Amino acid sequence: MRLFSHTFSAADILCNSLDSPNHRILRTWQICYLGGKMNPNDQYFQQQQPGYGAPPLGQNYGGMMAPPARTPVMPNQPQQFPPANGPHNMNPYGQPSPRPPMDQSYGHSPLPPQGANPHQLAQQMGGMSLADNSLKSPIPTMYPPMNGNVSPAPGSFPPRPPMASNLQASPMPPQTLTPGMALPRPGLMPPMQQMGLASPQQQYQNGPGMENMGHAVNGQQFTSPRPPMGGGFPAGQPGGFPGHPPMPFQQPPMQQQQPPQQQQGGYDSMGSRYPSSPSYPPGMSGPIPGPNSQPMPPQQQARRLDPDQMPSAIQVMEDDKRSRSGPFATSQKGLVPPLVTTPFVTQDQGNSGPRFVRSSMYSVPALPDMMKQTAVPFGLVISPFAQLEEGEQPPPVVDMGELGPVRCGRCKAYMCPFMQFIDGGRRFQCPFCKATSEVPSEYFQHLDHTGMRMDKYQRPELCLGSYEFVGTKDYCRNNVFPKPPAYIFVLDVSYNNVKSGLVHLLCQNIKSILQNLPRESVGGQKGGARVGFITYSKEVHFYNIKSSLAQPQMMVVGDVDDMFMPLLDGFLCDPVESENIIDQLMVQIPAMFADSRETETILGPAIKAGLEALKAAECVGKLLVFHSSLPIAEAPGRLKSRDERKLLGTEKEKTVLSPQTTFYNQLGQECAGFGCRVDLFVANNAFVDLATIGQVARLTGGQVYKYTYFQADLDGERLVEDVRRNVEQTVAFDSIMRVRTSTGVRPVDFYGHFFMSNTTDVETAGIDSDQAMTIEIKHDDKLTDEDGVYIQVAVLFTSPGGQRRLRIHNLALSVCNQMADLYRSCDLDTVMNLLMKQSVTKLTESSPKQIKDGLINRSAQILACYRKNCASPSSPGQLILPECMKLLPLYINCLLNCDALSGGSDMSIDDRTFNMFAVQTMHVGASLAYLYPRLVPIVDAATAAGAPEQEDQQLLLLPSPVRCTVDKLRDDGVYCLDNGIHMFLWIGLSVSPEWIHGVFNTNSAAQIDIDRTKLLELDNQRSQEVRSVIGQLRSTRQRHMRLTLVRPRDKLEFVFRKFLVEDKHGDASSSYVDFLCHLHKEIRNLLN
Ligand SMILES: [Zn+2]
Repeated sequence: MRLFSHTFSAADILCNSLDSPNHRILRTWQICYLGGKMNPNDQYFQQQQPGYGAPPLGQNYGGMMAPPARTPVMPNQPQQFPPANGPHNMNPYGQPSPRPPMDQSYGHSPLPPQGANPHQLAQQMGGMSLADNSLKSPIPTMYPPMNGNVSPAPGSFPPRPPMASNLQASPMPPQTLTPGMALPRPGLMPPMQQMGLASPQQQYQNGPGMENMGHAVNGQQFTSPRPPMGGGFPAGQPGGFPGHPPMPFQQPPMQQQQPPQQQQGGYDSMGSRYPSSPSYPPGMSGPIPGPNSQPMPPQQQARRLDPDQMPSAIQVMEDDKRSRSGPFATSQKGLVPPLVTTPFVTQDQGNSGPRFVRSSMYSVPALPDMMKQTAVPFGLVISPFAQLEEGEQPPPVVDMGELGPVRCGRCKAYMCPFMQFIDGGRRFQCPFCKATSEVPSEYFQHLDHTGMRMDKYQRPELCLGSYEFVGTKDYCRNNVFPKPPAYIFVLDVSYNNVKSGLVHLLCQNIKSILQNLPRESVGGQKGGARVGFITYSKEVHFYNIKSSLAQPQMMVVGDVDDMFMPLLDGFLCDPVESENIIDQLMVQIPAMFADSRETETILGPAIKAGLEALKAAECVGKLLVFHSSLPIAEAPGRLKSRDERKLLGTEKEKTVLSPQTTFYNQLGQECAGFGCRVDLFVANNAFVDLATIGQVARLTGGQVYKYTYFQADLDGERLVEDVRRNVEQTVAFDSIMRVRTSTGVRPVDFYGHFFMSNTTDVETAGIDSDQAMTIEIKHDDKLTDEDGVYIQVAVLFTSPGGQRRLRIHNLALSVCNQMADLYRSCDLDTVMNLLMKQSVTKLTESSPKQIKDGLINRSAQILACYRKNCASPSSPGQLILPECMKLLPLYINCLLNCDALSGGSDMSIDDRTFNMFAVQTMHVGASLAYLYPRLVPIVDAATAAGAPEQEDQQLLLLPSPVRCTVDKLRDDGVYCLDNGIHMFLWIGLSVSPEWIHGVFNTNSAAQIDIDRTKLLELDNQRSQEVRSVIGQLRSTRQRHMRLTLVRPRDKLEFVFRKFLVEDKHGDASSSYVDFLCHLHKEIRNLLN
């Protein structure tokens, strides 16, 4: 049915409308001509109907009539307006700030009185004191400001002696040592060594300074988890250091021949041995006293556990970077990849690279019982369209023509390097279901003397882990080849979005955003996505942007109860062809709605309008919805306010974290069913019920972005960068993913943003390269070593150019009979990704306490099982951690305290929900940064003191992260902290005035305007370098992070400190040290 062309007459319309089966059309549309000589604003208001009922028949609909003047709706909802002081008092959580954020409580302590001094506040909030060490924090505090070396707080360990001068020639940055820390051995020790823990007995025997040198790589004391193993690295290394006495449980010296660098993958099977947790000395308030049944030397009892000796995430990352940077060839089954933080270049030699698929373990126990006993989760994190690094080859596209991809006749697995050709090449056996299938005659090839096909290295599907097939018609909806996907911008033009500057900003930037649309050449034709524009507040406006028009046209659908598409031709257009019309429209939209007083908005019908537009155009695509407020206008999907923030953190929080109605779930399913992805960009300044409206993004594979108290001047860059990346990154539309595994294991649970209409197919309307899906694998049958575990991920999708393709990823894992092999082949970062997504998913079912207890129990079980079955016998007072999992206690503690899982009433419900949505699509690199933020020193003492420019530059270009604890902050330093969502620049108060002047153009740190979200663009080297470092740090993350400036004692320092994840924050959380002690106690309980 052709409804409208670009010329209209009342007769036309009446006629067409009557043709329509939907007679409501008669009273629901209105037409406006835009631009031209008429004031578009007047036009708009003149041509609106004051109500939404049917105008009398026979009235002139053609846009030339003069309806009754529209009475502007005056805002009658004061809470919908930004509070006068809103944006400036906003904290990065964007919590409403009628009072300054300082007054918000962290944890569950009662609100302190307004105007309390920071020190009192600190105490009331259970945080750290800013000035007083008598607070008895287990972590030595930094204050009062120190010169140069970090000196410990009174009551903690003795001052650290300066490093021996003969070591200063080594490439180590300035470092201080504590008694009990090992002295690095020149040449062997890496820079920035973090020392491990020696057993107290050992420390006692050896005296301070030289003990604890068990492992040359990471300075930790290792014991073999089982009797001597080939390839293992010995503990203790007697003789490694002259005069070093042998340790109990050490391995025979013969084993120390092998340097750690030669171990495969740098992962060994050794456990790290830690001392029993010593008691806190009198006066220290260790919240969870360490278990200490072992008689300890008195010296040990008097000492507290040194946080610097706990396993360090920074150290683990540095070690891996050192040993595993560079090429990573995927030829071997079950090869453990480098950590996500290590720069590596995948060489696809038959298995997919770890950027596409990561497993939580690379050696799977043969028996399900063994797996169950260890409690180590088995799962995959799949980013099927992950961005590649320089030097990595994108998966090649294989076109099999009419034949289509060759598949197993039984389980339908796709041809891959794991298929075995038999019978002279006439048949192949499938590793997933064991069935043999006939090779199609077109695909036949002879085998060589080793049984390989002669064309193995000519065909990507026979020699690579990742590749694509071109889909035949059978792989298309209704057996019709798809059109290129479309992008529809759906813009809320109600008061809030206009007032904040969002409408204006977005329209101003659309042109440059559209230049980032993916364009792809398919079959010699340059395919490009088409674009369309919808605006809405209480009704929905469609725009005709056909290139042949002189000016854009607007259609208004006022009856939002039953949304339909009034415009078939000219809504979706090629952005290049319609460039001029789009330019005009982008000038007219902000002008038209500049005086909007509409505060009541709809949302459901606006999304439905986009969906109808795609349906009408018979193409898939995505909606970018820019929404501002709770949809309270009378329309489908209307919501009520339920901002009961006080429920967060309580047993009842699941009621506000779950949707209040199923409307947006149903809408999401409907969109998903049609291949319409919805991305929500929420710029709210009041409760918007993200938990409900976000469902539509979740079910369609979309992302949720949030800009609380959006102000164009402060957040504009962030919004535009996010939109640009979103548009650029979406690479696969209308996708269905299926994961096939060999027998004995099977995928059971799926986490991410998608919709599943059955138990195996993961459907998304669009996946981007930043998104990952996490899958838990169940092990329910015996495996054999010769078989291994085979995994094939197949994603059927429509490319931006409109080609139907399949992307295939293959991964083979080993099978082991020894439990120690499992612990040796774990990828803890992937384990944490899975645990995080599982925990966050459970939040809408269980209480947070149950979830947290479950996490603690599970980690205790993992470590206790290792201790019991893999470590050599030792005193129960010792904590022994498997090498690959030595950061498990740290990361579990980070998970227990992270915003997504633990955000309490200090956050808004929407921010909490936002975090939960964000977590669900994270790949392993993102989830790691979210759990353990990156803290990078931007300036250290040397540069602050005015060191030569050259050295300055070196430090700035290569900042290595430091541990996330207040201990690492120096008052004369500047640090950048980010977790992928928030970014802070912490500026010490003793930073050199030259540096401050160079970067902030003020004379002291105190004068810096911390409300800025951007650094000044000053024309000097320091300023350029700092901006460059911030830019580099930002470029590694998926979202453009707003920069929050913070100085010691600033109101926002509390928020910043919450991200120093090794420290204690509030009564409800534990520091890393405390948690390790607590976990040790749990492990001992399990072992007894
Ligand atoms: Zn099969």
